[in-house]
Amino acid sequence: MNWINNYVRPKINSLFSRREMPENLWTKCDACGTMLFHRELSDNLNVCTSCGHHMGIRPRDRFLTLFDGGIFTEVPVPTPLTDPLGFRDQKKYPDRMRAAQKGTGEKEAMLVAEGEIGRTPVVCAAQDFSFMGGSMGMYVGNAIIAAAQRAVERRRPLILFSAAGGARMQEGILSLMQMPRSTVAIQMLKEAGLPYIVVLTHPTTGGVTASYAMLGDVQIAEPGALICFAGPRVIEQTIREKLPEGFQRAEYLLEHGMLDRVTPRTKLREELLTIVRMLMGLPPAVIADLPPPASFSQGPAEPEAEDTENAAPPRRPAPPDAEPPEAGAKG
Ligand SMILES: [Zn+2]
Repeated sequence: MNWINNYVRPKINSLFSRREMPENLWTKCDACGTMLFHRELSDNLNVCTSCGHHMGIRPRDRFLTLFDGGIFTEVPVPTPLTDPLGFRDQKKYPDRMRAAQKGTGEKEAMLVAEGEIGRTPVVCAAQDFSFMGGSMGMYVGNAIIAAAQRAVERRRPLILFSAAGGARMQEGILSLMQMPRSTVAIQMLKEAGLPYIVVLTHPTTGGVTASYAMLGDVQIAEPGALICFAGPRVIEQTIREKLPEGFQRAEYLLEHGMLDRVTPRTKLREELLTIVRMLMGLPPAVIADLPPPASFSQGPAEPEAEDTENAAPPRRPAPPDAEPPEAGAKG
């Protein structure tokens, strides 16, 4: 029956793989089920054009759409020890790391960059939920310290975008040590009189919520973001009561005084610019005069290529489905 393996199966496979191709052009909204054309979705910063649901956005894409002309410089982050505990669950920790690096094209779960937003210099750090649930390990701690040091050195405000399932369990106590480390780093900024602004994105949970993500001078969240220490399921099981509608979501927390603002991603750049300039004692920017950011389907500012409509835009490998926080992180 070799002909089945050698002839029939490859034929069937080739038929199916050909059909899969166009699917990459469409993304289904998790909230309303609308099929969204990838270009339309990325031009709207991964916010559903139909219902306003905020999908995940990778740090690099966020920076492209935040900094003037999509131009930014990465701030180097010292590499910590790899696998200090020799940790192994179903997979070895170094194997898990390699898979995450391959899947995301990033080195670790946080990206630090400096650049200008509306001609106002800032340092930004963004956490990557698709990299092992954005979990806070030694690298993330180092990244926050590097970001705070750079901000102090250049006298710039620090804007941090949080997204995490919590601490990285593969680094045990060393990951929990990042809570005091990052808190001390943020304190450096405060002592230097520089603003620290946190944008909480979906989801920000566990030890991250118990440290640097809640220390901002201004606390902003994206709509619908889950922000908590222990998640709603855990609380429900512990107290054996039904939780109120929208519990631990951004809007609920705003209503209960835990946040200053809930701002849609599409308005975030303008709002951050206004806040940063106000806190730095600079005159307000004239929004109409400012250089625009870039679109992440096209990359940083460059002469526009002709007929990009039909050509597949150059993209990194599609982000794999983000691992649930349980897989790489704990509270
Ligand atoms: Zn939707």
